[in-house]
Amino acid sequence: MDAHNKPNAPVLDSYWMPFTANRQFKAAPRLLASAEGMHYTSVDGRTILDGTAGLWCVNAGHGRRQIAAAVERQLSTMDFAPSFQMGHPIAFDFAQRLAEIAPGPAGAKLDRVFFTGSGSESVDTALKIALAYQRSIGQGTRTRLIGRERGYHGVGFGGISVGGIVNNRRVFPQLPGSDHLRHTHDPARNAFVRGQPEHGAELADDLERLVALHGAETIAACIVEPVAGSTGVLIPPKGYLERLRAICDKHGILLIFDEVITGFGRLGAAFATDYFGVTPDLVTTAKGLTNGAIPMGAVFASRKVHDALMHGPEGQIELFHGYTYSGHPAACAAGIATLDIYRDEGLMTRAAELQDDWHEAMHSLKGLPHVIDIRTIGLIAGIELKSRDGAPGARAYDVFVDCFERGLLIRVTGDIIAFSPPLIAEKQHFDEIVSMLADALKRVK
Ligand code: PMP
Repeated sequence: MDAHNKPNAPVLDSYWMPFTANRQFKAAPRLLASAEGMHYTSVDGRTILDGTAGLWCVNAGHGRRQIAAAVERQLSTMDFAPSFQMGHPIAFDFAQRLAEIAPGPAGAKLDRVFFTGSGSESVDTALKIALAYQRSIGQGTRTRLIGRERGYHGVGFGGISVGGIVNNRRVFPQLPGSDHLRHTHDPARNAFVRGQPEHGAELADDLERLVALHGAETIAACIVEPVAGSTGVLIPPKGYLERLRAICDKHGILLIFDEVITGFGRLGAAFATDYFGVTPDLVTTAKGLTNGAIPMGAVFASRKVHDALMHGPEGQIELFHGYTYSGHPAACAAGIATLDIYRDEGLMTRAAELQDDWHEAMHSLKGLPHVIDIRTIGLIAGIELKSRDGAPGARAYDVFVDCFERGLLIRVTGDIIAFSPPLIAEKQHFDEIVSMLADALKRVK
């Protein structure tokens, strides 16, 4: 029996689902009812192995009682408090805890923290901070924002402007003056690579090209995901991020890393900033910040950026920006409990211990039908399939549906399958993922 025909199944009409083909979904819904550890349970009682940490966020695994208890305690002590011209200790405590592990090297950490409600809000916040910073140092002509093709930076107007996904941009206007670097996806030169590919560092020179085209004095910031996740796991070529940093420094352009996916241990270091050893001026985060349990985002800013904005007349608001839910007490409680778990269980570096087994498992899928590339870094993998003639994305979607029926949650974007299992995974889970995916690949047309 279909899940939606069950007696206690929800009526599906009213919920307009995000990033979903609503009519197709509602004709054959996939509904999750509970979650524990590495697994979901569907409404029809099947166990589903979570190959994607929810949506790249449940890094410490599901059902963490410590987080639930902290949120419960906070909500019954103080459910909400305004953050405008008013404070509550837990938001300051959480920011201090984050400052201790903030991205960047000791002595130059990005340890000033602005709270938001999501990844999209973090991106728009970082872009606005960059603009405000440039103006505050007398560089007010710098209003242009540079992103990258195939970048995903959420769905705010700032995020879609610097983002590089055509479907997210097609019907919406964008910020004037936004421009894009080329993406780094180049399977002709870099197929089946573990870790960073050899070829493509020179693509960073696109930023020089845009400087030559527009003039450095018009460019405020350049934003990239260190590893692009949502558009199919694009790993930066060796030397690429370093080159981007050098060009930004040369021309007074702020560099922003969008670490909404890579933050909080995904690569085996707390942040991709630390993993790659390249330090941007601003870092956007969300997702793993609270283990996905409560919506929240945070922007980490360097002292240089933060302190420039802290000048000005006494009593003046330094940045006209913020959200009702910035530093929400329940989200901060969830965040502190999450950081405790990451620390106590060593999860920030666990991906580094697991990655050899993970990469081995993923690359064992080479040679299976339709597989044209496999890319792995930290506890992430992208498996690219050959598109079915005339129907891009259809083959991977069929694999996604089949895997769900077999008991495996994967994520697909176009014809690329993306994996990002919770950091509590064991080797046996990798074997299960490989086995279910291999069966699905052998069956798909
Ligand atoms: N930036 C990146 C790199 C992301 O992966 C995402 C979400 N997948 C976002 C921003 C947007 O986050 P949210 O959906 O929480 O707004």
